[in-house]
Amino acid sequence: MSELLLEATDLARHYTVSRGLFKPKATVKALNGVSFTLAARKTLAVVGESGCGKSTLARQLTLIEPPTRGALKIRGVDTASADVKALRRDVQMVFQNPFASLNPRKTVETTLAEPLLINTTMTTLERRERVAALAAKVGLRPEHLRRYPHMFSGGQRQRIAIARAMILNPGIVVADEPVSALDVSIQAQILNLFMDLQDEFGTGYVFISHNLSVVEHVADEVMVMYLGAAVEVGDKKTLFAQPLHPYTRALMSATPALRKADRRERIVIHGELPSPLNPPSGCSFHKRCPLAVPRCSEEVPQLREVDGRRVACHVVG
Ligand code: SF4
Repeated sequence: MSELLLEATDLARHYTVSRGLFKPKATVKALNGVSFTLAARKTLAVVGESGCGKSTLARQLTLIEPPTRGALKIRGVDTASADVKALRRDVQMVFQNPFASLNPRKTVETTLAEPLLINTTMTTLERRERVAALAAKVGLRPEHLRRYPHMFSGGQRQRIAIARAMILNPGIVVADEPVSALDVSIQAQILNLFMDLQDEFGTGYVFISHNLSVVEHVADEVMVMYLGAAVEVGDKKTLFAQPLHPYTRALMSATPALRKADRRERIVIHGELPSPLNPPSGCSFHKRCPLAVPRCSEEVPQLREVDGRRVACHVVG
């Protein structure tokens, strides 16, 4: 069995925000209790509209801020009681915009060597060798190492950002919409690069994306999120073959399918994502849900096992 890299249990992050003078402060439940695991060589895709808590989850997993509630273990070590600095080495991040995430004043070689200089006792020669070897694996040529980020295309810049994330050979990489800023023609190349590196190094990926075609390409497991909570979690094949939660079904019906047999009847969800400052009572999806029944506005549905996945809906099953 593959090594368990991540174990999140009821992970939550709440923020206190001011609502103006003379008004009491409010609590935003940006992430409100998600539980999942990630094993080596596996990819968990996190899906949902913007504002559903995906980026807050990324900040939790990369140990940028502590959870308000719940627990996170990395390779079995509880992050609440461990040396977070040491654990951070094992969790690296790839961002959506490779230009903003690379220092324009540093050459590719300096950018890639920096984490080794800070975190290891490697000699200059060893660092050079490691940088050259990894640069070759991500498809960069030796002469690229002396160049600056602005001299590259978006796809090549993302290759540099991926190499920087992988340079310390982390167990986990959190990739936040890593191809959504790239041309469609380049996206598949970058996704294949992620998968090749996973095969070679055994990395576990948490892949945040709103694009279900991308998710179908890379994921082993899928977690669909809505307003800070998971509404459906399961194996990719099971979810794509038969999504059960009304929100998952609506998302999937909106994704164009190439083959006629795969096309689904379009389910339109009306209205905007509610404000997390004032979430609806009961099921947070009930004001937009085409299947809502009276119970939905009163009782919060809990995740439960239905047909080989976990789903939070009163009506399903
Ligand atoms: Fe829709 Fe009710 Fe299920 Fe929520 S619990 S998804 S409102 S049917």
